[in-house]
Amino acid sequence: MRRTQVRVALLAMSALVGSVLVATTPAGADTADATVTAGSERSHLEDADDVRLVHVRMTGADMLDKVVAAGFDLEHGLRRVPTGIEGEAVVTAEQVAELEALGVEIIGDDEAFAWSDEADGGLRASGARTAQAVQPASHEATVRVVRADWFTTKGQGFLYVEARTTEGQQSNPVVTMQLENDSGKDTPFGFARTMSRFVDSGQYMFHRNLFKLDTRPSQIRVTSSTGGVTTGFVSDWLEDAPPPLTSNPGYKWDFVDGYRTPQQLYSRAEEIAREYPDIAEIVYLPNKTNGYQRKAQATIGGTGQSAVVVSSAAWGHEGGNDITVEFVERPGANLPLSIEVQGKAIRVLLAKDAAGALASTAAQVAAALESQSQGLVDRAHPYRTNAGTGIVAPTTGPVALTDFLDQKRAGAPEGEVPRGPATIPVLRIGKHRDGRNPGVLIQAQDHAREWVPATTSLEAAERLVHNYKSDWDTKKIVDNTDVFFILSNNPDGANYSFYNFASQRRNLTNHCPDENADPGRRNSWGVDLNRNYRVGSGHDGYAGGSTNCVSDTYQGPAKLSEPESKNIIWLVENYRNIKFMMSVHSNGGQLFWQPGAYIADGRITTPRPPLGDEAFYWQSASRILSQVKAHRQTVVTPENVGGSSDVLYSSAGNVREDLYHTYGIYAFGWEVGGSVYNPATGNWQGGSFQPPWVGTPDLVSGHSETMEYANGIMEMFRVAADWGKDKKKPTSQLVPGGGTYSGPVDVRFETSEPATIYYTTDGSRPTLESPRYEATEFREPGQVFHVTETTTFRWFSVDAAGNVEKGYDPTNDGKRDNYRSATITVTGR
Ligand SMILES: [Zn+2]
Repeated sequence: MRRTQVRVALLAMSALVGSVLVATTPAGADTADATVTAGSERSHLEDADDVRLVHVRMTGADMLDKVVAAGFDLEHGLRRVPTGIEGEAVVTAEQVAELEALGVEIIGDDEAFAWSDEADGGLRASGARTAQAVQPASHEATVRVVRADWFTTKGQGFLYVEARTTEGQQSNPVVTMQLENDSGKDTPFGFARTMSRFVDSGQYMFHRNLFKLDTRPSQIRVTSSTGGVTTGFVSDWLEDAPPPLTSNPGYKWDFVDGYRTPQQLYSRAEEIAREYPDIAEIVYLPNKTNGYQRKAQATIGGTGQSAVVVSSAAWGHEGGNDITVEFVERPGANLPLSIEVQGKAIRVLLAKDAAGALASTAAQVAAALESQSQGLVDRAHPYRTNAGTGIVAPTTGPVALTDFLDQKRAGAPEGEVPRGPATIPVLRIGKHRDGRNPGVLIQAQDHAREWVPATTSLEAAERLVHNYKSDWDTKKIVDNTDVFFILSNNPDGANYSFYNFASQRRNLTNHCPDENADPGRRNSWGVDLNRNYRVGSGHDGYAGGSTNCVSDTYQGPAKLSEPESKNIIWLVENYRNIKFMMSVHSNGGQLFWQPGAYIADGRITTPRPPLGDEAFYWQSASRILSQVKAHRQTVVTPENVGGSSDVLYSSAGNVREDLYHTYGIYAFGWEVGGSVYNPATGNWQGGSFQPPWVGTPDLVSGHSETMEYANGIMEMFRVAADWGKDKKKPTSQLVPGGGTYSGPVDVRFETSEPATIYYTTDGSRPTLESPRYEATEFREPGQVFHVTETTTFRWFSVDAAGNVEKGYDPTNDGKRDNYRSATITVTGR
C-alpha cells in the first residue's frame, strides 16, 4: 500500500542549520597544504641533551598543522582554548626562534588558559554588550543547548556547558552567548557568564564554558546577543557510585610495579600464556618490525660544503660499527682520487692538482665512497642541502662509524636491547578463543615515549588471569570476551625511548632522503604509526599527517607502509570477532572515537557515526570513565570526550578511522594521564609521558594512572561482554505520538537504548537504505521535524548489537511489515 498522494512538508531543522554553515566560506581554506613537502632546512631535535619543554599557544588548527609539519614535537597534551590551541613543545633553543617565526606564542606556565570562575567567564563582557547593541531587532535567532554537565572531583563541583546558535558562523559582528544557571530546582537564574566561541578550521563549532560551582544547578539558560534564548536541564557527568568491578574482598590487583621495556612486556605476556594455558595464548604477528637497529654513520668534515656523510651498508651491530673511514693527504702533485679498503678500514686518498693542492670535493669523495668501498658503504653524500662543492680536508686519523645505539641516555634501564627486527606477541585471553565471543583489541604504545599505556594494559591482563578462578566478575569477562593485548605496538621506538632518546614518538625507520639522512637527524626519523592507516589519510588530503620525514606526525611513504600498522590490519582480518578496540595513548585525559580526521578546507570530516553508534559510544565512555573516576576521583571532562577531530584536532590516517569504517569495529582512542584537578591550587594539572612511577599518588604518578585507567579497561571488557549478550530488541517512539493536531507540530524520535532509526514519510516500507534519523548537529540529540501537513512515519530501530525492533526484517520485502508506524494529522492552520 503506497500512499504517494500524501505530500509531505517536513522540515528537518538540522538541514537548515547545515545550509547556514555551508553557505559561509571557511576562513581556514588555506590549510589544505598542511602536509607541506619535505626538504626545507629544519633543525629538529638534534640531540637528546639540549632540548627543553616550553608552553606554546597557536591561533588554531591551521597553525598547528604547519608547526607539526615543520617537524616540531607537539603531539599530546594539546588542548583547545578560546584563543586557539595550547600545548607543550620539546625543543632546542634554536627551535624556539623557529616557532616564533611561525607565529607561535611562547607562554609561561602561569599564562596557560584556565577556565575562569569570574562571572564574565574570563572574557571581556564589554564585547558582548557591543554586539548586542547592533543586533537587528526583528531577527529570529535560534539557540540550542548541546550539553549541560555537572560533575564533582575531589570535593569541587563543576558545570560544563556547550550551546549553539544558528548564527555562530557570523563574523561581523560575532554572536556572543550568555550563560546563566540556577542554584537548584525552582531557584532563579543568575550568575551571567559570557561563553567562549569555539571555531575550528574556519568553522563555528559551538560556544562553551567550564567553571567551578559549589551547588548543583537544575537548569541553565543561554541567551544569544541576537535575541535567541533557551533553557536546558543539567545532567550528571559520570557516576559517583558505578557498579563496582568486583565486590570480592579477595580481588587481586596492583601487579605492575614500574615501567616495562618491550622485552619485559613480551616475556611477561609469554609467561602468562604458559602459566594459564586454559585461558591464554600468544598470537604472533606476522610482520616483524624493521628493527631496533641503525646503519653506522659519521658526518666527516664539519657541516659545510666540504662535509661528507657516510652510512654503512651493514647494520651497525652486524659489522657497520667496525668500519672506519679516513681521508688521507699524500705528498706530491697531480694525484687522482682513489679508495683503499683493508678489512673494515676505508682510506680515501684525496686528489691533488698540478700545484700539489688538495683537489677532491665532498661530492666527488661521496661518489667514490659509494662506488669503490667494496660494499662497505651504502650511502655517502654531502651534508644536508649542500652541493658538496668544498675541497675535502684530511682527517687526523680513521673515523669510526657508529649506529649511536650504544650511547645510552642517562637513566636508561639495565639490560641489553636485542638488536634487529622484533616479532610482536599478542596476548590473547579468553575462555573461548574460537570466535564465538566478542573480541576486544587493546593496543598500547603505538607512540614510543608513552610508557603508561603499556603498564596500564599489562595491569588489566594480570587482573584477568589472576582473578579468573577466584572472582565471579572476572570469570564473567574471561568467559564472555576474547581479549587481544598488544602491550607495545612500537617496540623499536620504545627501546629507543628507554635507552637512547626519551622523547621518541615514532618507529625507528629512516625514510629520509640524503638531505635529512645524516646522523644529526637520528632523533627525528621514523613513521608516526597512528598516521599510517588508510581511512581519512593524509595521502588523501586529510589534515594532521605530515609528508615531512622528520616531522613527528610523518605519515610514512604510503598507507600501511609500516609492519606495525600492517599487523593491526592482519589481526582484525584474521580474527573477525574483534568488535571493540582501544588504542591507548598518553597523556591528555581524553577519550575519543570518530570522526578523527577532516579535510581542512571546509572542515570535511570522515563520516560521522550514526546516532545509535554515537549514543553507544557516549554510554560506553560514561561507563569506562566512571570506573576510572572510582579509583582516585580523576574526571575526564566532557569537553575531552567525543569525535577526536571535534574535541582535539584532525589526525589523518589514524587507526581508529580505519577499524571503524572498514571493519565496523567500535574503535576508541584513549589519552590516559594528565588533567587531574589539584584542589591545592584550584587548577587542572597536566601530566607527562613518563611521570615518576610513584610521584605524587594523588596527582602525577605513573602508578596511579596505571591503576585508575586499568579500571577503565576492565569496564571496557564488561561493555563488550554485555554487547555480546545483548539480545534485547530496542524500542522507539515518535514524541509526541501520532494523533490529530490543530497546527504544525514538532516531533522527534526517542529510543529505549542507543539505537539508530531508519524511517520513511512517503508511504514506503522502511529499509536500511531509508533516511537515517540524525543528530540535530554533532554532539546533540536527534533532530526535530517540523510537521506542517498530515504525515505518516514508518520506521524501525537497530541497536548497537544489531538487534532490530520487533524483529522486523528490513532486507526482505516478502516478510512481515511489522515496522513501527504513526500518523501525525494536522488540521487547519
Ligand atoms: Zn600517542
